[in-house]
Amino acid sequence: MSTAKHVESVLPSPPTHWVGDGFPVSSVFSPRSIQSKLSPYILFDYAGPVTFEPSDQSRGVDSHPHRGFETVTVVFQGELEHRDSAGNSGIIGPGDVQWMTAASGVLHEEKHSSEFTRRGGVLEMAQLWVNLPARHKMDSPGYQTLTRDAIPTVSLADDAGTARIIAGDFSPTRGAARTSTPVILWDVRLRKRATATMPIPNGFNAAVFVRSGSVRVGGTHSADARQLVILSREGENMTIRTESDAELVVVGGQPIDEPVVAYGPFVMNTAEEIQRAVADVRDGKFGGLSWSPRALHGRPPREARVHGGGA
Ligand code: MN
Repeated sequence: MSTAKHVESVLPSPPTHWVGDGFPVSSVFSPRSIQSKLSPYILFDYAGPVTFEPSDQSRGVDSHPHRGFETVTVVFQGELEHRDSAGNSGIIGPGDVQWMTAASGVLHEEKHSSEFTRRGGVLEMAQLWVNLPARHKMDSPGYQTLTRDAIPTVSLADDAGTARIIAGDFSPTRGAARTSTPVILWDVRLRKRATATMPIPNGFNAAVFVRSGSVRVGGTHSADARQLVILSREGENMTIRTESDAELVVVGGQPIDEPVVAYGPFVMNTAEEIQRAVADVRDGKFGGLSWSPRALHGRPPREARVHGGGA
């Protein structure tokens, strides 16, 4: 008979720093803070909610490289725009997710969309870095745009709330993303004084980030907004009890049991591979970023979306 996962620790609300001029980011976790404790996850940055005034100046992060892992960007409010040296680009708004597989290497730009910049508004987003196993680190880059409508929503038992299954199995529902190894990424909203059980297998790492509200996890530990609850690898399932309405991000997955050497935008298995990545960027092997001005100014209007209202 298996036991439930238990809480190992609750990380405090992290301080905020700016990434580029568009992302006031809290480092929920990074290789420095958790090492490989949450493998296959490497890093979790959370931004907002922050209000940006209307502007005609592009905001965001200019071209930079990645190799050896995936960047997963989840937009809760606002609108972001991406383009990369593999030729992929896209705009994601509330409820949408971009799953970008850097693998052997891309250069990319991460910006507020031009429309959001012009209009101004509230930005709330998360970016998670998911490791790739050694056998896939040098694969060709990939790109999945997971629109809001393509992400299945599970209604939780006892009317506790909903879970959007971005990746991983919430049996019998399968997540929207294709992943190299089993990865869990759930966008969960719970009603106040509700109890919900999350089906996370024995042997998977897992953690719960609180976007808003107050929760009690595993019957033992309370957590408030911007805190991260780290669960044991052993045991299956976890129970969350809410005090208030709550918005949560559940991350987890099967650990990748390989050495991790992380250096800036590169996550490899050895120091030599990091040196190779730095040299390959210097030698132009990540390609170049180019686009026509028409792409910036002649973009067709996107279909109407409902913004704000806590979307
Ligand atoms: Mn990036």
